[in-house]
Amino acid sequence: MTNAPSAPAGIDDHLDETDLEALRAKYAKERDRRIRPDGATQYRSAAGEFGYYAKDPYTPRVEREPLTDTVEALVIGGGFGGLTTAARLRQAGLRSIRVTDEAGDFGGTWYWNRYPGIHCDIESYSYMPLLEEVGSVPQWRYAPGEEIRRHAVAIAETFDLYRDALFHTRVTALDWDDETDEWVVETDRGDRMRARFVITSSGTLTQPKLPGIPGIETFQGHTFHTSRWDYGYTGGDQNGGLTGLADKRVAVVGTGATGVQVIPHVGRDAEQLYVFQRTPSSVDVRDNRPTDPEWAASLEPGWQRERMENFLRIVSGEPVGTDLIQDGWTSTARLQRKMITGALDESVSPQERERADELADARKMNRIRARVDEVVTDPATAEALKPWYRYMCKRPCFSDHYLQTFNRPDVTLVDTADHGGITRMTENSIIVGEAEYEVDCVIFATGFEVGVSGVLSGTLPVRGRGGRSLLESWGHGPSTLHGFYSNGFPNLFHLGPLQNANSVNFAHILLEQAEHIAAVIAEGIKSGARAIEPTQEAADEWARTLRETARDNSAFQSECTPGYYNREGAGTPGGSSYSPGPVAFHRLLAEWRKHRMDEVLVPKP
Ligand code: NDP
Repeated sequence: MTNAPSAPAGIDDHLDETDLEALRAKYAKERDRRIRPDGATQYRSAAGEFGYYAKDPYTPRVEREPLTDTVEALVIGGGFGGLTTAARLRQAGLRSIRVTDEAGDFGGTWYWNRYPGIHCDIESYSYMPLLEEVGSVPQWRYAPGEEIRRHAVAIAETFDLYRDALFHTRVTALDWDDETDEWVVETDRGDRMRARFVITSSGTLTQPKLPGIPGIETFQGHTFHTSRWDYGYTGGDQNGGLTGLADKRVAVVGTGATGVQVIPHVGRDAEQLYVFQRTPSSVDVRDNRPTDPEWAASLEPGWQRERMENFLRIVSGEPVGTDLIQDGWTSTARLQRKMITGALDESVSPQERERADELADARKMNRIRARVDEVVTDPATAEALKPWYRYMCKRPCFSDHYLQTFNRPDVTLVDTADHGGITRMTENSIIVGEAEYEVDCVIFATGFEVGVSGVLSGTLPVRGRGGRSLLESWGHGPSTLHGFYSNGFPNLFHLGPLQNANSVNFAHILLEQAEHIAAVIAEGIKSGARAIEPTQEAADEWARTLRETARDNSAFQSECTPGYYNREGAGTPGGSSYSPGPVAFHRLLAEWRKHRMDEVLVPKP
């Protein structure tokens, strides 16, 4: 036995079975402390009585007349998914493309999230799509949020997408007109437009959520969600300088990927910061640096695609010659396949593979815990900041400023784990157990509802051929071909992780989806098809493929601390994604485009 898990985790690569057993027991104990009987229902949506948390603080709403015109393609969502689809459709020759978004501009996630410290946590050269086509190279290895948002705007300008765009507009209904072979699109601005093709790309982590803390509505101080940062109150900008907080006692609730980026800035500028933590994140070295201009000048055409592919292959467990990225994601690829499925090393037995994975995981997490001890000077605070779970139980975080913030005299970590989170809020304070913390401002870094696109939740009713409702026709679960389209719903395409493959570089996943959908639409137009719609047989076959290739990772998930990755401890249903992983999925799509496109082309009568 080399390293008892209750002792400060040492750097040791000589773990044995006893160490692993002790770790498993510690992980189970830490998970059990956090499991709540109300699971995923513990949260409140930033809607209705809490709707003010979701209001757009960045762009004033402009009144306009309702539209009744017709476009060739209507894209719901102006984030990277919608933008890249629209860009590829433009290149395919479509003239009228209308992007709609509830936000006041393009950017999606990067429109809404403008909190101080915001950065991409994936290397920006692989993350920011269409760099070569827009003609730019990011200025930082991990780009700040504002640079990414401006890049989204640049894509829209490059492909002339502002012309027909509608912002601050929510699509409220989609109805297929059997007579004209068009979608009738209604919105909350009274529009009743028509479109031949509709593409939905409304994001997966978009609707801010709040913890269901008793008394949350009674708080009389200032409060907002990180995705609607109130710079009018805090002063400063995304680079920090929050001078408005200089005389304020501030609470930040939540220590996920957002909290880790926000907390160093609030800690620096607030008179007093209380960080309310339920589960600590794993926080590894970031090592951000400006882009080397010589390197940027040396890039050959095609460099970005090569880099994106290289990253995707590595984190999906596929062989590569060279690791072009060499960062915290690529060096932990082996640990990621527990969560993000991909290629498996078939040369060893599943038992050997599992043991090797567990050992690698334990070593990595020991190093992450050891880093906490190295950085944080107060031993009790350091102990509370150590993550006790396997690497991919939660989104891994990277920061060279976060742990250091807890060495400041004006920053206090409040560990709420034993109380299942914050106990209660009053008019002017936050209560955890018996302890009360008076604060002027509460900032919720408590994340987003998962995967609730309007189409899936039913808030965007879709009626296809014969007025049939999409959700009713799906009955017990989605029925799609490759996750993109369904029988009975012609010319309607969905982007997102449903029934296909995912990866940590979601912008790349969306780009592949956009290019596939645009290629199918282009072929539909070229071939003179009446519509694009998969046969039910093709959708059923895809459902069989998902089932037959599904890898069960429920054991792994059930051992994880609760969070949105495992539906707060409930696990995710098998067969909802393509287990062989994104590289295999993209290969499969390329083959399908070559040989089986006619499965979705409905000929003219
Ligand atoms: P998360 O859902 O990851 O984190 C929410 C945080 O709020 C958790 O720490 C959670 O604790 C805490 N919390 C929830 N309820 C309570 C409560 N009642 N009392 C105390 N704490 C509570 O949201 P984020 O916004 O941090 O991140 C969401 C995702 O967005 C990330 O996983 C990532 O995919 C993406 N992201 C990406 C970034 C990038 O750079 N590309 C940056 C930021 C986010 P607990 O863990 O115990 O539930």
